[in-house]
Amino acid sequence: MSEHQTHDFHARSVADVVNALHAEPQGLDPAEAAARLTTYGANRLPEPRRRGPVSRFLRHFHNILIYVLLASAAVTAALGHMIDTGVILAVVVANAIIGFIQEGRAENAMAAIRGMLAPHSAVLRGGQRQTIDAVELVPGDIVLLEAGDRVPADVRLIEARGVKVEEAVLTGESVPVDKDPAPVRPDASLGDRASMAFSGTLLVSGTARGLVVATGGETEIGRISGMLSRVETLTTPLVRQMDLFARWLTLFILLVSAGLLVFGIFVRHLPFDEMFMIVVGLAVAAIPEGLPAVLTITLAVGVQAMARRNAIVRRLPAIETLGSVSVICTDKTGTLTRNEMMVTSLVSADDTFTVEGSGYAPLGLLRSGVGTADLASHAVLTEFARAAAVCNDAALIESGGCWRVEGDPMEGALLTLAGKIMDGASAPFAHLTRTDAIPFDAEWRYMAVLSHDHEGHGFVHVKGAPEAVLAMCRDVRKSDGGTMPLDHSYWLGRIEELAGQGQRVIALAGRTMRQDDTVLNTVDLHDKLTLVGLVGLIDPPRPEAVEAVAECHDAGIRVKMITGDHGATARAIAEQIGLRNCSRVLTGADIGMMSDSELADAASETDVFARTSPADKLRLVTALQSRGLIVAMTGDGVNDAPALKRADAGTAMGIKGSEAAKEASELVLADDNFASIAAAVREGRTVYDNIKKVISWTLPTNAGEALTIMVALFAGMALPVTAVQILWINLITATTLGIALAFEPSEKGTMKRPPRPRDAPLLSGELLWHILLVSTLFVIAVFGVFAYGVDKGYPVALAQTMAVNTLVVLEIFHLFFIRNIYGTSLTWSAVRGTPMVWFAVVTVTVAQFAITYASPLQAVFGTQAVPFLDGVMIVGVGATFFALIEVEKQMRLAFHRPARPKGNRQSAHAVG
Ligand code: ADP
Ligand code: MG
Repeated sequence: MSEHQTHDFHARSVADVVNALHAEPQGLDPAEAAARLTTYGANRLPEPRRRGPVSRFLRHFHNILIYVLLASAAVTAALGHMIDTGVILAVVVANAIIGFIQEGRAENAMAAIRGMLAPHSAVLRGGQRQTIDAVELVPGDIVLLEAGDRVPADVRLIEARGVKVEEAVLTGESVPVDKDPAPVRPDASLGDRASMAFSGTLLVSGTARGLVVATGGETEIGRISGMLSRVETLTTPLVRQMDLFARWLTLFILLVSAGLLVFGIFVRHLPFDEMFMIVVGLAVAAIPEGLPAVLTITLAVGVQAMARRNAIVRRLPAIETLGSVSVICTDKTGTLTRNEMMVTSLVSADDTFTVEGSGYAPLGLLRSGVGTADLASHAVLTEFARAAAVCNDAALIESGGCWRVEGDPMEGALLTLAGKIMDGASAPFAHLTRTDAIPFDAEWRYMAVLSHDHEGHGFVHVKGAPEAVLAMCRDVRKSDGGTMPLDHSYWLGRIEELAGQGQRVIALAGRTMRQDDTVLNTVDLHDKLTLVGLVGLIDPPRPEAVEAVAECHDAGIRVKMITGDHGATARAIAEQIGLRNCSRVLTGADIGMMSDSELADAASETDVFARTSPADKLRLVTALQSRGLIVAMTGDGVNDAPALKRADAGTAMGIKGSEAAKEASELVLADDNFASIAAAVREGRTVYDNIKKVISWTLPTNAGEALTIMVALFAGMALPVTAVQILWINLITATTLGIALAFEPSEKGTMKRPPRPRDAPLLSGELLWHILLVSTLFVIAVFGVFAYGVDKGYPVALAQTMAVNTLVVLEIFHLFFIRNIYGTSLTWSAVRGTPMVWFAVVTVTVAQFAITYASPLQAVFGTQAVPFLDGVMIVGVGATFFALIEVEKQMRLAFHRPARPKGNRQSAHAVG
């Protein structure tokens, strides 16, 4: 037992606890809740302490290159070259400031994303069910919990049906424990307090109602400090790999530099101080010190871009995975459709009704044939209304004539139906109180409620998938109130007919119970129910989903619908959405009979899966993965968690998804919309491209500079660029230009390319060739311009200034080239660029003019004013360089292009 002061709520009766907290069974009223929020504070765990700004700033000096530079500053100071010392120190500090600011931006971006995932909680306030941010919970609140929820605060259970809670975060025990509102012994340990549900634990099954007894830091989990600091660093496998690469490269370059120092002094007999500065320049030129920081920023920018498109990244590596997704398995309801349900037809034993009205307003006529149908002549309608209203957890809320649903939209639509039948009443069967219930479970696809009226009559109402309900029915209600035997083939025909129109079909059934039956078991249902009839609901497809599906097909990504709904409904919607292979629909039952390898074959040929259970989803992911596909899978329920974990890019629904599903996922969709998955894939590809662009821009730039120095050294020539100038170019201009690439938007053809293979190497042959080509051109251009200056009889300092400017001009042209690695760089939009690119280019240009023409800076950098015509010539050299690499790229692209037939490449290889 812990030594802190614990409450004994677990040992007291519910009534006692309600009293102690001055709570009300129908919930606190909103004013009281607001008052308590100021007293008790937000329901938030204390934040782990962040490092202070000073220590974060100093961390930017913790880097081998910086140490080398600081040591060099000391050496140059000892040698009396105070200007060099000053420049080195200034550059080091400027570099740390840039890094500090950029890192701050990246961290703020991530913090904002975390805020978007803040959990919500269903509470009773003033007798009304509502959903609030979990941080607003106060002691005394009554929360409603269901399977998949994280318990938002410490609660004393008032009611628990089939509740199992996984308390590993608190007790370390991963086997879920049963919960029950009955008081337990006062000295029970945390794990044995069955009458409590603790903040941070996970409801794996059942539904519960609980009274909040402690929030925020007062909860059991809040008191355990240390386990709260879940720090996520901004990195992905690719970036980590680059980081490691950069570190080894640094070491390698330092060794080479040391070797050169020895070579210069002992073989060439150059003076130590001159040679030392050359070697420092070489090291700075060759080491891609800015690369890791720029990559981190690229990731942060990508995360933000996805968030703007309603895709919230929970695990950063998902950004990379998303870019290579080759198949998306998506839910139907709410993802491909709007999840705005409306009942349009009812089928009873001897009648068919159509339902009019719009939205969730409980107003509208029912028609039977051509006439209006009323309760007097159709007694069965009351049964429809009662089953629909009682077997229901949703609520309709009206504000300003506008009706909306709190809870499941399908249940909302059923409440609306009940209202229409019962003449606009919004709570027509309030006299029936719920005694017990079997909650909806995607495995069994029905929900049952036991309720009693004031006279003690008991009723069971069931709603669910028609096959599930029909299997439990003994007979059917007739219009006149009597019953008749169930004709299975008649009902199956009617179900197919409704489902074939894309309607979701629900069956309603019921039976009476005795007064003293207060517990509902499945045996009370089997073969004991009377069918009331079928309800057909429409749920129109989302227009943006149709576009997004087409976009995915263009991008070589297969889209598969996996739904719990009826096969015919699924097929009708799949056709409307534009899925490819809708002719064959595989059901959960079909899948159950297949072996893993049969399933792998069937799964790659079929695009529509119906009446699937969460376990089927898991098998499907595995089957598709076994064919080398990279799978994105959506899910919302607690049972979907294993499939979401297994998928390469698990995607949870932000609105209707449970906490459990979100926690198992890489990605959360803020709007539950399929179009957001497609957008996330596009952003994922863009981030990958940008990472590639940053690398393809940085490495040749560094290599070019380093080669320039090495060539000069070995050829025994004067350096075309001095060490101080190299420092300037590398740490200031290159970082500024490189960061612009992190903000690059998607290239035009991003979603026309096939997905990148999972193991595509980053340092590909193509990249190595690009490095070689560009660095060679850099060397030729820089030496060319330098030699031209010397030839013209310019002082060496002026020739060097021209060489420095040439390097910077080449970097700028190279930047414009890299922006379009898959297309042409000479279109209007490519030249127009982005604000970030122009900001970087203008900044660098101004800085470059300053060091070339401002006399104090000339003194520091040893530069001289470049004559106007020579400046024009330098830009001309840059343009020539650009033309050369652009033509080379076009040749390469032309060579690759015709090899790609349009259409279903993936399937061809998957089936083959
Ligand atoms: P989907 O993949 O379309 O989201 P679900 O797994 O949510 O499908 O539901 C599968 C089937 O279960 C539905 O077609 C419906 O027949 C039934 N069903 C769904 N929700 C409920 C509910 N709240 N109560 C009873 N039956 C339901
Ligand atoms: Mg569903």
